[in-house]
Amino acid sequence: MSIETLTQFLAPTYENFPKGRTIGMVVLRKTQSELILRTEGSGEPMCSEFVQAGFQHKNSLQRLVMTKRKQVAPERRFGREQLRGFELLYPNKDGAVCSLNTNAPCEMCIDCFLYGFAAGGGGAQKSRVWTEDAFSLLPTSETVAERTINAIFETGTMRDENGKASTALNTSEYIKPGVHFLDVVTLKDMTADEMRYVLGNILMTPRYGAVSSRIGRMENQILGIFGGITELPSSLELVQSLYDALIEANTPLEHPFDTDLLVEMTKGAIATWTNRRGISRQLTEEQLTDVIADVDRHWDGERETFLKRLDRSYETFRKPPAKASSSRKGKKNAEPVTPEG
Ligand SMILES: [Zn+2]
Repeated sequence: MSIETLTQFLAPTYENFPKGRTIGMVVLRKTQSELILRTEGSGEPMCSEFVQAGFQHKNSLQRLVMTKRKQVAPERRFGREQLRGFELLYPNKDGAVCSLNTNAPCEMCIDCFLYGFAAGGGGAQKSRVWTEDAFSLLPTSETVAERTINAIFETGTMRDENGKASTALNTSEYIKPGVHFLDVVTLKDMTADEMRYVLGNILMTPRYGAVSSRIGRMENQILGIFGGITELPSSLELVQSLYDALIEANTPLEHPFDTDLLVEMTKGAIATWTNRRGISRQLTEEQLTDVIADVDRHWDGERETFLKRLDRSYETFRKPPAKASSSRKGKKNAEPVTPEG
């Protein structure tokens, strides 16, 4: 029942035209193991950025950045594993099953409808999950460490069968376990089931970043849910206001930072956001807990029913992807026109 608290900001059914219903979420992402966030194979250092430390304190600070792509790609993959499990991915124009990063999305599955696609065949769906770069609260000097990796041979030793020492030395930077990122995610014109799907993806994705099969454990927690007609302040604004509060309270900027304290401070900072133009409602603690429980329930015992129901909701909007060569003239299934005034 709980997600109905947000009815005013949710779409009753999927439709092609946006109507400005906006749900904003504040997500705390905490690393549970070492994590590597950089473009794979690029040899570049960890993703970070010099930004203004706070609003009042205008000194510059180097913070870690978790880019949009590093957040969304693993989360989409989590959802798509489930869709694949229930055969809810569709064939693309080449007859192959919908797959990420292949330039040939099926344009018909839940993932395509929610996270968007732009296909060569002429179809396009705008993503309705808007993410932004997430920033670490603490500076990189506190959150990044370096390690020299020395490749060992299969014998488990540093010397091969001829007695030669391993020369495969490598210095590798990593983000320490227990580092916090704050993140703002925006959901646009979503139905309740679509919101459950996206929230499930965020809450249940276990690993992020490069070499994620070995490291990159991360836990996500939703600290606030808002409804309105526009986006929340950015994640950078959030960490900046927390920085000011930390300095004000004489709290040291040291790793590891107390998660409970961070949660409390963040909740304090976002409590004022409903005073901002365009943000009209924040869920209470109890309503927030109810929404998370609702999401858990749908992904747990009711998963198959829930995913199949969501899949059916796009039925009348589904158009098999056009073959790249076929003409788009005389569209038979033109989008239904809704009176927009
Ligand atoms: Zn698809």
